[in-house]
Amino acid sequence: MHFEESYPILKTLNPEELTKSFGSPLYVYHAETIKRQYERLTNAFKGVDLKIKYACKANTNLEVMKYVRSLGAGLDVVSIEEAMIGLKAGYKAGEILFTPNSVSFEEIKKAVELGLVINIDNISILEQFGHEYENRVPCCIRLNPHIFAGGNSHIQTGHIDSKFGISIHQLRHVTRIVSTCKIRVNGLHIHTGSEILDSSVFIQVAELMFEAARSFPELEFIDFGSGFKVAYKEGDYTTDIEELANQFVSLFNGFCKEYGRKLQLWFEPGKFLVSEAGVLLVKVNTVKTSMATVFAGVDSGQNHLIRPMFYDAYHHIINLSNPSGKQRIYTVVGYICETDTFGWDRKLSEVREGDILAILNAGAYGYSMSNNYNSRLRPAEVLIENGQPRLVRRRETLDDLLRTQEV
Ligand SMILES: *Cc1c(COP(=O)(O)O)cnc(C)c1O
Repeated sequence: MHFEESYPILKTLNPEELTKSFGSPLYVYHAETIKRQYERLTNAFKGVDLKIKYACKANTNLEVMKYVRSLGAGLDVVSIEEAMIGLKAGYKAGEILFTPNSVSFEEIKKAVELGLVINIDNISILEQFGHEYENRVPCCIRLNPHIFAGGNSHIQTGHIDSKFGISIHQLRHVTRIVSTCKIRVNGLHIHTGSEILDSSVFIQVAELMFEAARSFPELEFIDFGSGFKVAYKEGDYTTDIEELANQFVSLFNGFCKEYGRKLQLWFEPGKFLVSEAGVLLVKVNTVKTSMATVFAGVDSGQNHLIRPMFYDAYHHIINLSNPSGKQRIYTVVGYICETDTFGWDRKLSEVREGDILAILNAGAYGYSMSNNYNSRLRPAEVLIENGQPRLVRRRETLDDLLRTQEV
């Protein structure tokens, strides 16, 4: 199958019409792709009591979050603000897992007041939690297994130098606090990073988690985080969900039998659900031949999609306006006063000024990581459902930029 075939959004959208109605640049999302991804997970893991907690930092658009909830998912949030947005999107507090790091105990208390499921990622907070709530409020514990998952080192969280989670080697300290303060630990959590290269890593992590779980008799769930890798380009490795589930389900059920209770299996996909569902449409302002390359300069930049510059991530780019044009080589750059290159040496159908390009895999960590650098405004967002595009966030205006300075 050709790479672009896995992007049904490309067949659904009419770039000229969309940018005429909603302007450019424009984030466009495709509901049915999110559904396809969600169902791929739930179908593969049929053999267990599976709960999907959508990691909404990938895309916090309210309508996207509502849509994900309509599929049956709960939420994973990393800040109290994301939790508030989740509640606004209709998620019940008990469906939301609060997984912050380096936050004050005050923020944890707020999360308890809201009724969120609390996930604790350091010893100091665990102790404060125990003194404050004893066994009145349960909590989940985030462990760090120190497994290197491979792949892009910018987005790994499980390695030895990582700030995330409580080291699995501190388990004795954890159980000491738990038993002294009589904390009710209802879940164990791990998130080894954003792109696990090999499903054997998941299995390795599972073995470690089961080992740790034996120290906590009141568990209701084990949360294996995310790490599901999606393709960003032709030939990219992706997590084979079905193969993974095949091995994982029997391991998990085997452990539950030994543990003496049926536990829920949680995953927290972010990019797996929404990455391929989104594109960023941009317009070519200038075509500029330098001594070394031909630059296609577009009406967007690192302010709207920072992954290529921040993570050195590859995002595939297509010229939608000239599909049968002759292939040429371009360097696609943004309009920010920085070297904000979306892609070097890309083969694109001949690019003319005014053409609309699509930057793929923009559904995750696109808008949610955007900013106003160079005092540029954020684009609008459109959600296509049943073939119907609708505006789900308006374009920013200059007033939006000035509002917080009206003091
Ligand atoms: C970011 C994050 C996720 C989601 O990661 P993806 O790579 O987008 O699937 C899941 N869990 C936690 C705790 C996270 O911080």
